[in-house]
Amino acid sequence: MGRRERFFHEIMSLNPEVTGSCHQVVVHFPDGRATNFVVDCGQYQEEAYNYRNKEKFPFDPEKIEFVLITHNHADHMGRLSQLVKEGFKGKIYVTTETEKLIITALRDAFKIMKEDTKKHNEKMLYSENDLEETISRITPCDFNETNYIDRNIKVIFLMNGHMLGASMIRVQISYPGEEDMCISFTGDYKPNNIFFEVEEIPQWIYDEPTEIVVESTYGYMNSTEVKYHMEDDIENATKAGKTILMPVFAQERAQGMLFMLKCMQSTGKISKRIPIRLDGSLAQEYTKLYMASELLKKFNKNDFLPENFEFISKENREMILANEDQQIILTTSGMMDHGPAQIYLERYVERRDVLIYVPGYTAPDTLGYKLQHPNSKNQVVINGKEYYINAQVLTTNEASGHAKADELIALLQRFKNPILIFVNHGRKDVLQLFAQRVEKEVTAAKRVEILGEHTFVCNHYGYVKHMGSKLFKAMTKNEKLRKKEKKKKCFVKKPRSMQKSYHNYSSRF
Ligand SMILES: [Zn+2]
Ligand SMILES: [Zn+2]
Repeated sequence: MGRRERFFHEIMSLNPEVTGSCHQVVVHFPDGRATNFVVDCGQYQEEAYNYRNKEKFPFDPEKIEFVLITHNHADHMGRLSQLVKEGFKGKIYVTTETEKLIITALRDAFKIMKEDTKKHNEKMLYSENDLEETISRITPCDFNETNYIDRNIKVIFLMNGHMLGASMIRVQISYPGEEDMCISFTGDYKPNNIFFEVEEIPQWIYDEPTEIVVESTYGYMNSTEVKYHMEDDIENATKAGKTILMPVFAQERAQGMLFMLKCMQSTGKISKRIPIRLDGSLAQEYTKLYMASELLKKFNKNDFLPENFEFISKENREMILANEDQQIILTTSGMMDHGPAQIYLERYVERRDVLIYVPGYTAPDTLGYKLQHPNSKNQVVINGKEYYINAQVLTTNEASGHAKADELIALLQRFKNPILIFVNHGRKDVLQLFAQRVEKEVTAAKRVEILGEHTFVCNHYGYVKHMGSKLFKAMTKNEKLRKKEKKKKCFVKKPRSMQKSYHNYSSRF
């Protein structure tokens, strides 16, 4: 094998689909050294994949030298404490804005995991010590600054409109006498944000050859297909005297909706006399962090609370529920399965003078989804009890934090030399569809692949070869094993060789 071929990296992804984002990269240097790192370490949120959150990582966390986190969403950072528990000893690099938010998220994740495992009489996935250890590893980085991770690896966090603190990450791998290898991770991507101006990516970054890992959540539709009707829906409902119940995600969606309501108040679309309230302790905590955010202050957007607004505490919740006067209530969780949302739903779903407005994505099987797809009797089950859906239920995707296919293509087209594009983070059918579109429309791309199915070996020219689907096979094996376990209803010890075969595999190359 020639000298050049000895400078290469392997890249693999734990899940090609929308949640559980986690990419492992193993860099091999000509002097025989190897560096392992991970980009994002997220939870699986699809019901069907939930069991994977409880499994060990299919790589050795002790060998991972550092972790880069694109943004503070559970499907990108929710398993960090588990990684530490399993032996990860390095630093966790995040943006300065994310640093302030991620500690709240990690503590909340611990609380939920503790309650969950207790409820199901299971072993905790990690301890409070592991949580504190994880927090101590968080290392903030400013946007557009070059961070020298070690003598061969430089990392730059680039601004991204997906949410406060969100980034695109560019990793540059160097070795004396060799051409650099670059990998750019889009993370979840959006070109703009309502709270801040997204800083332009420096032109030199677009000019240099790079491998790109791109998300594809909305890879099936164009931004021109988005219909904007949210303000009208809310205006019509309030003018008809209805109370509005809005399930929101704790970070970004809750604050974004409050900001929208404030704007509607100032344009006279809704009356300032209608009280606006927010329930959910995590959403309230994030709201306070947004109000204190330096970045929002820079854009004069930290004062986003509407008039006649209050937080709902556990103590005054019952009083508010009993009050039948018109009001607008925002509550977590966004898909209505957790948080106080169900308490409100039980009281509001049979009321004809209520609009339930779902301003975001709801995964199948969640309560938010079932409300939009009721059974033949127009009923929904909440906490084991059937309720008729008399309230009006409306939804929109206009508040989404993701770029649509045309916007993702426009981003990719700005890169002068995308030597290899990996499509990731999309529904199975969307991954294919979007990859085909990238192949056709991003003419500078030398090659387009879906990341997750195979482990790829790449050098600075791009793709060298794929190594089959070791990781995928390991997972499928795990799934089969799990089904078997379920069938037998007895505990089957997982053979060690299954994990081992994966660990050893990179050293075989
Ligand atoms: Zn996200
Ligand atoms: Zn995501």
